[in-house]
Amino acid sequence: MTLYCLGIEGTAHSFGAGIVTSEGKVLSNEWDMLKPAQGGIHPREASRHHSELGPGLIKDSVQKAGIHFKDINLVAFSRGPGLGPCLRTTATIARTLSLKLAVPLVDVNHCVAHIEIGCLESRFNDPVTVYVSGGNTQVIAFAGGRFRTFGETLDIAIGNMLDVLARELGMPFPGGPIVEREAKKGSNFYDLPYSVKGMDLSYSGMLTAAKKLHSEGVSISDICYSVQETSFGMLAEIAERAIAHTKKNELLLTGGVARNNRLTEILSGVAKRHEATFHRVSPSLAGDQGAMIAWNGILQYKSGRRIKVEDSHVLPKWRTDDQDILWR
Ligand code: AMP
Ligand code: MG
Repeated sequence: MTLYCLGIEGTAHSFGAGIVTSEGKVLSNEWDMLKPAQGGIHPREASRHHSELGPGLIKDSVQKAGIHFKDINLVAFSRGPGLGPCLRTTATIARTLSLKLAVPLVDVNHCVAHIEIGCLESRFNDPVTVYVSGGNTQVIAFAGGRFRTFGETLDIAIGNMLDVLARELGMPFPGGPIVEREAKKGSNFYDLPYSVKGMDLSYSGMLTAAKKLHSEGVSISDICYSVQETSFGMLAEIAERAIAHTKKNELLLTGGVARNNRLTEILSGVAKRHEATFHRVSPSLAGDQGAMIAWNGILQYKSGRRIKVEDSHVLPKWRTDDQDILWR
């Protein structure tokens, strides 16, 4: 019998609702991202965005999937990691639906969901994953029953760094695509702090140095070019070491920053050198959205994991490696 899972995502600026079947078919994936008129994302404003738009997006996703609410067999939600107010709003919607529809509730780790939707799409079995987004920067591989973080940012996420850089340069949110466009026009490379510490990396020094270049009159395109080459080079270094160490033969690029073509080019080169297969998650499944939560919900449900409403408090600091992966 086919199961229909409603997946609800809302860890940060985006709210998403998707329907995925137990066979791994994505039937719908509706989402909306809060774009602040100025400044960064305020957690309270993002949670208000989710409570205002969430119900409509869920209805749309059920309708677009061609099913009815009564056909839903389980409700999955992103329990963490993320911003507390956003997680609580999302969890409240998920709990309500699970009770109202009288179907099981499944708690999903947002980072694990990014990996599993990438595996579904690529048919990879056991990749090294580079997960890069507005809130996360991690190189992850499966070992000993868990997704282990081999390397990660010690301060800000790469997407956040690109968004803040764009803002400082007078460009709108989200900054990543604009930095990519500007970087193509750049030709002069400026040295920026290349900060890899063991398997971890740090981006805040680079951001400060890039701002300084701007105040010295260096062109926006040269700054964007230099920032991309340096920050992506750092990621490539730790991804390469993770592949060499784990000897895995698949490299997966996922998260919102996976939409970047230059990063894709650099990482596919890393994969090639190690005779690994490379896959970049398609744009509609790369960023934060509900389909990945739904698919992870299916995997978890089949492995026997679900959660009682009374135990389903959110986990803002839930780490990728803090969950036993029962389905692998
Ligand atoms: P997520 O947090 O996964 O929803 O992804 C959002 C992040 O992806 C934001 O920080 C965006 O700036 C970033 N992003 C989107 N498109 C691109 C791109 N083409 N290049 C770099 N970053 C991007
Ligand atoms: Mg994400």
